Amino acid sequence: MTDHQTYLGSCHCGRVKFELQATVAYAMECNCSLCRRKGALWHGASDKTLRIVSGEQDLTLYQFGTLTAKHYSCRHCGISPFTRPRLDPARWAVNLRCIDALDLSSLEIRKFDGVNWEEAAQAIYAKPK
Ligand SMILES: [Zn+2]
Repeated sequence: MTDHQTYLGSCHCGRVKFELQATVAYAMECNCSLCRRKGALWHGASDKTLRIVSGEQDLTLYQFGTLTAKHYSCRHCGISPFTRPRLDPARWAVNLRCIDALDLSSLEIRKFDGVNWEEAAQAIYAKPK
């Protein structure tokens, strides 16, 4: 059905573990006030392609601004493995830095101008799917 690979990811202390089914060729880098501090590299996922294997009870939720996005991190080690992004809160953005098997230096980096979120989002919504 799919030629996606299954990647295993985790927070730093290992309580939060997840499986991502994806073909990872690029990563999104966002320059918003939160992402620039996290240094996260994001990849989109759905409820079908991201499975939280363990540690759901160890997650803590952080929200700011419009309170649309849901930023989850492990309350023990502070690492943020995934988020419900403001662009589409029904989906996930997975932090590729939490997946050991990925060679991040081989990925194309696509910039998302989160500082000018409205304009950047319009450009993405306007793209044909
Ligand atoms: Zn942790």
